[in-house]
Amino acid sequence: MTNRRPTRIHCEIDLARDGKQVGYLRVPHSVHRSAYGWLPVPIVSIRNGDGPRALLLAGNHGDEYEGQVALAKLVRALEPGAIRGRVVVMPMANFPAAMAGLRTSPLDEGNLNRTFPGDPDGSVTAMLAHFIEDVLLPQSDFMIDLHSGGSSLHYLPTGMIRVTADKALAARCRALLEAFAPPHAITISMGGEDRTSIAAGLRAGVVTMVTELGGSGTVSPDCLRHAEHGVRRALRHMGILQGGPGADEPPPLAPRWLSIGGDRAYLYAPEPGLFEPRVDLGEWVKSGQSAGAIHDPATPWRAPAEVTFRYDCYVLCKRVPGRVERGDCLFHLASAP
Ligand code: CA
Repeated sequence: MTNRRPTRIHCEIDLARDGKQVGYLRVPHSVHRSAYGWLPVPIVSIRNGDGPRALLLAGNHGDEYEGQVALAKLVRALEPGAIRGRVVVMPMANFPAAMAGLRTSPLDEGNLNRTFPGDPDGSVTAMLAHFIEDVLLPQSDFMIDLHSGGSSLHYLPTGMIRVTADKALAARCRALLEAFAPPHAITISMGGEDRTSIAAGLRAGVVTMVTELGGSGTVSPDCLRHAEHGVRRALRHMGILQGGPGADEPPPLAPRWLSIGGDRAYLYAPEPGLFEPRVDLGEWVKSGQSAGAIHDPATPWRAPAEVTFRYDCYVLCKRVPGRVERGDCLFHLASAP
């Protein structure tokens, strides 16, 4: 359901022009310290004639850094002569959140990935979501949104697509993810959250994938490599990046295919306290197996709350901070495909 009202965001660069253009989206932001001010959201267009068009996003969640670094490196390295068509890059999609190193925007508490299709007259986060869905996606053939676990989670390096009723589009999303070739490849079952970038991409008929590459509020060399090499492999698959892989680029691995679906994929803390995990990332676990215990060292004589897995599954993602509140996600779990 695209909002038909026009964006209030001014794009400094002309996305229809050939060459490498760098600049900002000017998001109107009239506040006490800057009456007629705007927020500078970085955007880059690299174009060489007509051809396939890719939209690359990172910093949708501001505390997910691997994609922001990978896309900044890509922007500097990629020249128009090396491509056909166009690549548009937004390395800090939720710019205020990314500048603050926070998942959500400090200006409006906005979680960009729960804000699509956005609102051109709404908060800063809503205006950005609307610009991506209403302006950028309709002029894109492919979208990759690079996420990670952020500050509170850590994911094994993973790429994800979502099941959609459009079988032809679903097959093209799968082919894109296979070309990206992350170590883990996930199919997210149909339905669920419709305010995410992946939902927005599919609404627009755009071949869409997202990643979850690491997290823990930092950048790991391994996950950064998967991001950089995966994006280049994907751009070649799209027909945008010309020529073969560079000498520093290892051959792609065959991904381990898994699936995720429904509420059972999230294991939550039933009590506040200190979490003692009893499994690690990359383990297959059984229904009824102990996932861990939540201790209350302020009442150390009280038995901890036990947490158990409710189905046979694969530990794809774990919580990072030891302190937990009731309702915090401890594990994100995958199943055989
Ligand atoms: Ca994320």
